[in-house]
Amino acid sequence: MGTINRRLVLRPGKDKPLRQRHPWVFSGAIARYEDQLLAGEIVQVVAADGTWLAWAEFNPGSQIRARAFAWEPEKVVDEAFWRRRLAASIERRRRLLPDRQAVRLVFAESDGLPGLIVDQYGPHLALQTLTAGAEARKSQTVAHLVDLLQPASIAERDDPVRQKEGLPPASGPLWGEPPAEPIVIAEHGHRFYVDLLGGQKTGFYLDQAANRLALAPYWAGKEVLNAFSYTGAFAVAALAAGAAHVTNVDTSAEALIMAGRNLTLNGFPPERWTNLEADVFQQLRRWRDEGRQFDLVILDPPKFAANPSQVERAARAYKDINWLALRLLRPGGLLATFSCSGSIERDLFQKIVFGAALDAGREARIITHFSQGPDHPVLLSFPEGAYLKGLLCEVG
Ligand code: SAH
Repeated sequence: MGTINRRLVLRPGKDKPLRQRHPWVFSGAIARYEDQLLAGEIVQVVAADGTWLAWAEFNPGSQIRARAFAWEPEKVVDEAFWRRRLAASIERRRRLLPDRQAVRLVFAESDGLPGLIVDQYGPHLALQTLTAGAEARKSQTVAHLVDLLQPASIAERDDPVRQKEGLPPASGPLWGEPPAEPIVIAEHGHRFYVDLLGGQKTGFYLDQAANRLALAPYWAGKEVLNAFSYTGAFAVAALAAGAAHVTNVDTSAEALIMAGRNLTLNGFPPERWTNLEADVFQQLRRWRDEGRQFDLVILDPPKFAANPSQVERAARAYKDINWLALRLLRPGGLLATFSCSGSIERDLFQKIVFGAALDAGREARIITHFSQGPDHPVLLSFPEGAYLKGLLCEVG
């Protein structure tokens, strides 16, 4: 592939982001490209004056028409190149997080591998290809991972983002036999079931691992509401650090069953937790009307804004749940509130929570800022890689 010489030419004045090593080339920045470029094909991106800019993968079916991954014209983009990229990405985790057995090994653009997500759960891997380029290289990627890590199995996980790239749904075994039953992984000494073939995203929210640890000093003796609990990872962390009681709320009965299993697996008796299958928006209102109170509320909702056009509607939804949660907190209570919408920037999120506090008539102080863990790094040249943000607020 090192001899590829198809070119994609940018419009005048549209080359600055690429020169600054930002990987995304939007359709509006493109003047022309050599015809019959296929989805997933590798192209050379050049400026309007013909200056060489980057190697990129092309996708005619995406708003992000090309994703750059290398900026040196002499680079030979062959299988050895991709294997080195994978090895380097894995090596960064081994250096930064040597003791973690559940860890994101590859975080797409942030690791110079557009559209590729690889999570490790002990001996098993979960993989997602979210762009045409990553999709086209999937079988080679699997071969490299097998060679580099000798995993027991690799399972493919679907994601709605694939649709935006014109890719069909995809899930199931890619290598070996991913266990049909949930496996047990460890995080900070706690144990969790992970369903490699079912469950959400890649099975477990690894991006919150550092935040579960960061909250450790605050749980003792508290009555905790874990809203959008999924499989109860925050609940286990809370009870392990001495929380008096945790209520998990989620709309997914399946996730709550797993939460119950996780709590039992870690030795917490049913008196210390409650699982409630309910819509958080409705349940918080019910509790408000009943005058129910908590000492610590976690709000970790799914992505409310999938793209910039949904920001306004998402902002209203974030404000609504935060406003309600603030009203349920006892004086001196703590609100741990998150947003994993990439389109809602950190400053905006803080303003939303501020608006919620104003409307709730509660004074609130930020104690801690949260973000995604070190296995979800953010390239300075690609700030869009930062999607998870959160605040721990003490409420007056
Ligand atoms: N905090 C979890 C991850 C939460 S993911 C962890 O650390 O593992 C978001 C969860 O919100 C999912 O489990 C999803 O089923 C749930 N969910 C989505 N919309 C909801 C709603 N309106 N009410 C309750 N739960 C909802």
